Amino acid sequence: MSVFTSPHFDNHENVVFCHDEASGLKAIIAIHNTNLGGALGGCRMWDYATEEEAITDALRLARGMTYKNALAGLPWGGGKSVIIGDARKDKTPEMFEAMGRFVDRLNGTYRIAEDVGTSPEDMGYIAKHTDHVLGTVERAGDPSPGTAYGVFKGIQATVLERLGKNNLDNVKVAVQGLGHVGYDVARQLKEAGASLCVTDIHDDSIRKAQAELGATAVNPDAIYDQDVDVYVPCALGATLNDDTISRLKAKVVAGAANNQLAEERHGAMLVEKDILYAPDYVINAGGVIYLYHQLEGSSRDTAMEHVGRIGDTLREIYAKARATNTQPFEAADRLAEEKFMKAA
Ligand code: NAD
Repeated sequence: MSVFTSPHFDNHENVVFCHDEASGLKAIIAIHNTNLGGALGGCRMWDYATEEEAITDALRLARGMTYKNALAGLPWGGGKSVIIGDARKDKTPEMFEAMGRFVDRLNGTYRIAEDVGTSPEDMGYIAKHTDHVLGTVERAGDPSPGTAYGVFKGIQATVLERLGKNNLDNVKVAVQGLGHVGYDVARQLKEAGASLCVTDIHDDSIRKAQAELGATAVNPDAIYDQDVDVYVPCALGATLNDDTISRLKAKVVAGAANNQLAEERHGAMLVEKDILYAPDYVINAGGVIYLYHQLEGSSRDTAMEHVGRIGDTLREIYAKARATNTQPFEAADRLAEEKFMKAA
């Protein structure tokens, strides 16, 4: 078990191993970089098979948050924490209270929030012992409207880059997942003149989209075969894989889902098929931007203006990728590095 020699170690500033005997808490907090400000990143609770896996996840996810926060233009660095355990069986309030005490010791160099396996209620127990927590029931609400608007602006920018169209009139779009984010994205696309094909595993949201948005509905697996210009993944991760990429007819992939590429090599597969993919961590940053402004007490207009800049950031990334003959996700990483390294 190693940290400094791990392939996922990338000059992380601080890695803290937390153990509380009374509650049974075993956790790792990884702070990747704080050049732009104290780190922000969620707390994942997962039944890791080995400690090695938990360390890898913490290191990898913390680094990702540095890049995401930097490109979102937030005064936050990147960090992440993981609690080792089964979120359905092992969770206790005492465990999260202990986690709160560990977070507090870091004096704001790490701010914790909810993630896979943790909830606003869990953040409430953490908040008993530290102010450095976001996403409690009382503090900052649902980020989905911010995420949806950012995805909409990102689709506009990506359609302009790949299809040369500066409006969405009659652009054919396939939206996968009509949840908090997907439905709102579909509504904005409809208002902008796009023609909608949608899918979900729940019939009620499909019927709503048919009635309210005039959408055509298809079965979940058929979404990849549609003759559309844009595929908008707003359900699960890893939907860009060997099977689906070979089926896609869309020339643009731009959606909210986290970790859309099943493996890194699928980014290259998309390039080979001449499909322009908006890097997920850039296009779905509207939620975290929205939360930041809620905490700052900004107006909704200020928050949405900032979220809308996701479109500008993507345009900058595509221009850089063209100029340097690289893929957009590589250009995005270089742009993020310029931002957080310059701040050192
Ligand atoms: P949600 O749970 O509200 O919606 C997901 C929708 O996808 C649900 O309606 C669900 O029925 C549907 N779905 C699940 N499996 C499906 C399948 N196989 N085929 C079709 N539909 C399926 O989630 P959300 O908050 O709207 O988030 C959507 C995605 O965006 C997630 O991947 C999430 O991690 C990511 N994301 C969300 C936010 C946010 O602010 N909510 C921010 C960043 C990223």
